[in-house]
Formats: sequence, C-alpha cells, structure tokens
Amino acid sequence: MDAQLIGDILTVCRRMDAKGLVNAFEGNISALQDGFIYITPSGKNKAFLDEGMIAILEEHSLKQVGGKFPPSSELLLHTQSYKARADVKAVIHCHAPYLTAFALNRRPLKSRAYPEMMHIFKEIPVASYGRPGTPDIFTGAAELVEKHNAILLANHGVLVLGKDIYDAMNRIEACESIARVLFLAESIGKPVDLSEEECAYLLAK
Ligand SMILES: [Zn+2]
Repeated sequence: MDAQLIGDILTVCRRMDAKGLVNAFEGNISALQDGFIYITPSGKNKAFLDEGMIAILEEHSLKQVGGKFPPSSELLLHTQSYKARADVKAVIHCHAPYLTAFALNRRPLKSRAYPEMMHIFKEIPVASYGRPGTPDIFTGAAELVEKHNAILLANHGVLVLGKDIYDAMNRIEACESIARVLFLAESIGKPVDLSEEECAYLLAK
C-alpha cells in the first residue's frame, strides 16, 4: 500500500469535487502502481473520502486487498484502459457538465478557432454508447484509447488517461475548460476559424 499515492488520489478527489467535476454518484479516479490498482469506492462522496476508503486491487486478479468499501462500479473503464496502454498509470472517468453535454449530443470536441484545443488535444472523439455498469461500458472506447488521452462516452461522460494522477487531473480540467469555452463561444455567435495554414501549424505542434 502506497500512502503517498493514496494521499495524491484524495487530493485530486477533493479538487475535482470543489470544481464540480464529480459527486457521490458520478466520477471515479484510479492510479496503477507496482501491480495494484487504487480506485475510489462506489457511491461515496469524493469530498469526504479518507485513506481507508480507497479500494486497492491486484491488477490482474482484481482481488481486493485494501480499502473498506468495494471499488467503483465503473471499474472496467479503468482496468481496460490500463490493459490497452502500458504508458497509462492513472484514469479519471467523470460526468463533467460541459463535456457530458457534448457527450449527450454525441458531438466530438473539435475546433478550428481555438488554438488551445488544437495543440493540446487535436480532437476529443466520441465513443459509441455502452451501457454503464455492464461489460459494454468500454467497448466503444476500446478503438480510441490507442490514439487519444481524452474520449467522450456517448450519452454518458468522459474518460481521461494520464501518465500519473496529476497528469490525468490536468487533462480533465483542461478539456472541461475547452468544452465550456466552445459552448460559450457558440452561444454568443459563431467562432471564427483560423486559416488553413495556421490550423496545420497548430495541429502539428
Ligand atoms: Zn459514469
């Protein structure tokens, strides 16, 4: 058991709760270290978690070896992400409001007007719908995780992958902020696309 990692997960939980990105019923945060998956428990408010509440599972057997509550019911999103990408050491899934609004519309995030969007994420695609709480939850995302660190889950929420827990947190915050900006920009007019040349430069960065 790694007390430092558990502390980092709790820090990220509290920050995401403060930013309105998670609540008791939505959102799960995990990290993989030394063959163990550390993940938030099912149905508990992220703001009030303590060290003993983070579920710890053996990566391959998924046997729970620590934590007094069972893992999130969306565990499969995490385990499948770790299986798919050896470089991924942290996974955040949540229903961040602006990103989830795009996910309900099954609308990928892409912009030719916002440089931030282009050079950080290029595009945030939408995975086909998989019923939450079933083995289908990851099916649509499976073909996208190779190339993307942020994926919208149709009619559900968002999945973000990181090289560590803070990297994943930074990504979820950045893509929620981008979704909010795009939503606001479109609500007051029509964002002006940059030139082909400028887009090509930004997308290649
Ligand atoms: Zn969910």
